[in-house]
Amino acid sequence: MIQLYIPLNFLGVIYREIKQSLADMERLFGLLEQNREVADSPDAKPLVTHGAKVEFSHVEFSYDPKRQILFDVDFTIPPGTTTAVVGHSGSGKSTLSRLLFRFYDVQQGAIRIDGQDVKNVTQDSLRHAIGIVPQDTVLFNDTIEYNIAYGRPGASRADIVAAARAASIHDFIETLPDGYATMVGERGLKLSGGEKQRVAIARTLLKNPAILIFDEATSALDSKSEQAIQAQLKEIAKQRTTLVIAHRLSTIADAHQILVLDHGRIVERGTHAVLIAADGLYRQMWDRQQARQDEDLASPPVEVVQ
Ligand code: ATP
Repeated sequence: MIQLYIPLNFLGVIYREIKQSLADMERLFGLLEQNREVADSPDAKPLVTHGAKVEFSHVEFSYDPKRQILFDVDFTIPPGTTTAVVGHSGSGKSTLSRLLFRFYDVQQGAIRIDGQDVKNVTQDSLRHAIGIVPQDTVLFNDTIEYNIAYGRPGASRADIVAAARAASIHDFIETLPDGYATMVGERGLKLSGGEKQRVAIARTLLKNPAILIFDEATSALDSKSEQAIQAQLKEIAKQRTTLVIAHRLSTIADAHQILVLDHGRIVERGTHAVLIAADGLYRQMWDRQQARQDEDLASPPVEVVQ
């Protein structure tokens, strides 16, 4: 009886883990209500990366046949460089990251990593090669150690601590009474937005993916945390092919390439300096954000006196 109970119990744990991790991935991409529509092709091979060049080749895509979302999207991210995508809300920025992760298949064109069409590689190997720092990190109701180790199940304590140090969250963890064994998540210690993003960075460092997707949070953190996180991201983006879905243009001014999406089309591309000089949509967005920042600086937050 005990012999039977243990495996069943164990299976229960695994089932919960799998469900949780799917929920995690789906929440990262805001896909809870959506179907997973893709399957491995019968002759799918593991993705082999060497530098991880990412190519979107004449991609056309719609979630629903009645409404096309992307039109002839064509760009390359050279190995080890950073490309940022900007554009108004709904222009299709996050859709690019969903397609790279192959949550959906494109209707026309192709997405390739080091020459391999993402349709022809195993989903496991594809998702292994891509690390995501999402807008809003989902924490499991488990220890902070577990939450970091989730980037690489089975990682040693030394590796977990090294990742936490590199993500500047180690010192904070050490101040907690239970240290790495502290329970976090909905039923445990609630972490701030910046602390959660640092956990996500530590997870990603542990996973050590060839490709990084950074989905910038729409709501800014306080400027000190924001700068610290930007500096860490810059560190982990070095040597990796990186796609940044950007909401604040100031954070991506030094990207190797910036793509401006408008209603699903790339309407401008280039470096920050090139796009400012082009005096088009990017320039308009930049001027508007600068003006807003100046307004914010002109009216500092009111101090509450108790
Ligand atoms: P934001 O800056 O607001 O996050 P975005 O540029 O990332 O926007 P996407 O999330 O890529 O925009 O969405 C592009 C378009 O696709 C939007 O009009 C959106 O309504 C639509 N869309 C997104 N997900 C789905 C879906 N699962 N089914 C149908 N339409 C969708």
